[in-house]
Amino acid sequence: MQDIADILFPNIKQTPEDLFKKYPKRTANIVTRVAPSPTGFLHIGAIYTALLNHIFTHKQKGIFFLRIEDTDKKREVSGAVEQFCEVLEQFDLHFDEWAIAEHGTDVGKYGPYTQSKREDIYKVFIKDLLKKDLAYPCFLTEEEISDIRSIQQASKKPLGIYKEYSKWRYAKKEDILQALDAKKPYVIRFKSPGDASQKVEVVDMVKGTFSLQENFLDIVICKANGIPTYHFAHLVDDFLMGTTHVIRGDEWFPSLPLHKQLFETMWWTPPAYAHFWPLVKMDGDSRRKLSKRKDPEANAQYYVEHGFLVQSVIDFLCNIINSGFEDWRKEHPKAHYLEFDFELSRVNPAGALVDMEKLKSINAQNIKNMSLDELFSRIETYLIEYENDFFVNIFSKAPQELHEKIIQELQTRLVTFDEYPRLTHFLYEDIVPTEKTVELLVNPKMKIADIEIAQKWLELASNIVESISPDMTLEEIKNIFIEHIAKNDMKNGQVLWPVRVALSGEQFSPGALELVYILWVEKTAQRLKNILNFLENSI
Ligand code: GLU
Repeated sequence: MQDIADILFPNIKQTPEDLFKKYPKRTANIVTRVAPSPTGFLHIGAIYTALLNHIFTHKQKGIFFLRIEDTDKKREVSGAVEQFCEVLEQFDLHFDEWAIAEHGTDVGKYGPYTQSKREDIYKVFIKDLLKKDLAYPCFLTEEEISDIRSIQQASKKPLGIYKEYSKWRYAKKEDILQALDAKKPYVIRFKSPGDASQKVEVVDMVKGTFSLQENFLDIVICKANGIPTYHFAHLVDDFLMGTTHVIRGDEWFPSLPLHKQLFETMWWTPPAYAHFWPLVKMDGDSRRKLSKRKDPEANAQYYVEHGFLVQSVIDFLCNIINSGFEDWRKEHPKAHYLEFDFELSRVNPAGALVDMEKLKSINAQNIKNMSLDELFSRIETYLIEYENDFFVNIFSKAPQELHEKIIQELQTRLVTFDEYPRLTHFLYEDIVPTEKTVELLVNPKMKIADIEIAQKWLELASNIVESISPDMTLEEIKNIFIEHIAKNDMKNGQVLWPVRVALSGEQFSPGALELVYILWVEKTAQRLKNILNFLENSI
């Protein structure tokens, strides 16, 4: 009589041995991978894990590959794979072997590197497990599973499908054939040799050795739609692709007993494991995991869209990985992060806190370290991509000299590129005085008690501007102003405050004299004239 395995998989003709020949053992000592699932945007935690893998592999001169784990078709988001590849590239994460989305050939000899293209490979091993009586088709309906659960709850037994609760584990061949004839939907379950009362030792490279509950569940290895589950697929992949070290997020640590058991069942040597603590954020007084649903900053793309330099995000994550990185970076502002001597065993076990203020200060520092040409080009690229209206209507129409003056002045204050339009629009566009400008002019702290006083100093400033010539440096402009202010027995702040407000119309802006320098004489004179006219008409 025909074997159940042959009935279920009539088209699978290859054997595990055929696949072992096709994917021979690698010669590299270290092989690691990043294996994201395209079920949404790429989480910043995935970048963190990828960095950990990259750093570890680079140090040991190993092989680093990218695998797309898309077995969960229900949760898959269209376009996510393309977005992942783009973001990984943006973050300067390059692989020795990788998957090419859609059409095209993958790079590397151990592919395909996308799980949905490897179904037949998994089925070879599922068929083999069926033949060896280490797996079985299970026809339990949802209602039956829920009844089993109620019984287990009532008798305080561990929940799930296993041993005496799994009638199909012990089913006769005739019953299976009958269910197949009746076209009942089924999954394929692994026949776990484990026991709920037993403990098993698992070793983690960073966490240490733990004694965890053995896996006793007959987990599903192939779903009713014929697609293998993550647990099974990733195991086959890591074995055939020769992964030596699995470095991944902490959320997979509880699955270690299951993965260990599956490897043992297959008679395969498992890779070494390192599970890293997740990225957390402060929520009130407590820390919590960065949530895909609640926190926009969980999305790796968020940082690029908000005008952070990729280098800053990488530096920030490297600081989390090893605290000594920060001092090293100060001494080597231009060096590649991989030149730092990382020690993964020194990663802080308390969890990795995503502190936005810290990230901003790293970004501001990296902006300060840039040459003006580089900063201009980064700002321009950012505006084209993310602030296109501002770029097309304002930025692209202004002369290069104006950009240079603005960027030079802003370099020490700019924190993220998304601030650029807000901080500079009044330097590019004409401004019209309003009631708000008048309110800002009065500032008792600067000894400007009323509008009349402001008006007086603005008139003085207007006169001073007449003695400025267009080719003067900022230093020369400063000297002229200071000299005139002193001659009139005034304090700098008294004159410069109203000038700053008149030239910017804003509460916060570059200093008054920087504005004069950026706007040149003509525009400065015009803006001072405009505000004086406005005051005259409104007093
Ligand atoms: N696809 C899994 C994830 O996105 C990867 C788990 C693993 O690295 O084994 O979390």
